[in-house]
Amino acid sequence: MTNPLPFIIIYQYGIRGFAPSQERDSNSVILDLKRFFQSDGLSEKLTHAIDMVGMELGGVKPFCAPVKAEVELTSFGGSVALEAQVGFPLTMPCDRCCEVFTREYAYRFSHAIVRELASSEDDGEFILVEDGRLDLDGLLREDILLELPGKFLCREDCAGLCPKCGKNLNEGPCGCSQREIDPRWEALKGFFGPEE
Ligand SMILES: [Zn+2]
Ligand SMILES: [Zn+2]
Repeated sequence: MTNPLPFIIIYQYGIRGFAPSQERDSNSVILDLKRFFQSDGLSEKLTHAIDMVGMELGGVKPFCAPVKAEVELTSFGGSVALEAQVGFPLTMPCDRCCEVFTREYAYRFSHAIVRELASSEDDGEFILVEDGRLDLDGLLREDILLELPGKFLCREDCAGLCPKCGKNLNEGPCGCSQREIDPRWEALKGFFGPEE
């Protein structure tokens, strides 16, 4: 797969301390957290652009711009607290009316990153990085995919399409919607006299 983004977008970092310990391939950043595990009270921020363009979701590719992420790392008691704020637009067809729409999404994620787990600890609460290296993009991509809504509606009260004629009912009623007859009553049609 070719990377559709110029490197310049992906490699915008606002932090000095990270530059030497970051490894980059075309799509992701691996953070070396060793010095965070070694000293308490370290705190650093970085901004990053996560490439999710081209990722498929429900048969379409809704990410049309890189995901902006602001990440704060703080070391505490041998673990690293990661706070991330992400924001991105999605362009998707509405699940009801099929109109394509774009909406901004913003989420906050928190993780506790550790190098080892005590046996009593539930690994669901921690991100385990035994070698001290964190795949930042992989983690945040997963967070985002888990957080996205299961249904994409152009608006909460989207009226959808008429099942008979296919008209977008957000644009107004169609002729057929009111004449709908429950098929179970179809047999009685005409029983009470001719239709008006
Ligand atoms: Zn809709
Ligand atoms: Zn209709």
